[in-house]
Amino acid sequence: MRIVKLISETQSIISEYKANGKRVGFVPTMGALHKGHLSLVAQSKRENDITVVSIFVNPTQFNNLNDLKTYPRILDKDLDLLSEYEPDLIFIPEAEEVYPEPDTRVFNFGDIEKVMEGKNRPGHFNGVAQVVSKLFDYIRPNNAYFGQKDFQQVAVIKQMTKNLELDINIVACPIIREVDGLAMSSRNMLLSKVERKNAAKISETLFKACNLVPDFSVSQLKEWVIAEINNNAYLEVEYFEIVDDTNLKSIEKWDDSDNRIACITVQVGKVRLIDNISL
Ligand code: AMP
Repeated sequence: MRIVKLISETQSIISEYKANGKRVGFVPTMGALHKGHLSLVAQSKRENDITVVSIFVNPTQFNNLNDLKTYPRILDKDLDLLSEYEPDLIFIPEAEEVYPEPDTRVFNFGDIEKVMEGKNRPGHFNGVAQVVSKLFDYIRPNNAYFGQKDFQQVAVIKQMTKNLELDINIVACPIIREVDGLAMSSRNMLLSKVERKNAAKISETLFKACNLVPDFSVSQLKEWVIAEINNNAYLEVEYFEIVDDTNLKSIEKWDDSDNRIACITVQVGKVRLIDNISL
């Protein structure tokens, strides 16, 4: 398990792997690792000769300065956890090297970035695309692994890869949950004890919602989910959308899409959590 900070060193190590015909899998993360991240590492290890994990809290994707400041950074623990999975290379670049000058690139993902996270976090996906395109350029992986928890992010990255004509296979991995159903997230550790307990209501409601299709109409189900969660004093729904999982357009009737996904963002105290479920 090599730990490298410099971009040039990372690039030369990767070139050597490639020269030896190795297939490279890449797992980009912002650290504060949990079993969700580790499941991506495990999948990459199964499917590639070499696995590279990056840990980088990317400043350009935070539209809220306080969120960037409070984002958990626990590198020693991350390295400990990773050592059990033994990725070949851990890349931990410095922001100054990734962004020697401000990144002025503007990406256009069309309609898929105009809804949900894109609408509620202006500039977020542009920042994600800025950093992921740079990381892809340094690492040039064969496969790159992303969590379905950030469902819209996967759609954006797939679109970016297509737009930039990159020969990289984007692999979407299932959501890993806590025992009580809460989707694992680095932000969960920012919740107080009582907030953490109540946050389980989010996934619990999504699971129940699955059983109400098709008895409830789309709009009835939306109302029910929002009311159910907002009924809890610790939770406030920012949005709840039911969309087609390919074009991310909102559906009005169940027949509008064969592959429906319900996406939610909930404010739990100062912490913003997202989750989704296939309906
Ligand atoms: P982050 O460090 O939050 O940027 O996440 C890095 C990667 O891990 C992203 O592709 C996330 O979608 C993925 N990820 C985060 N949480 C989970 C989870 N609970 N299950 C599966 N993947 C996850």
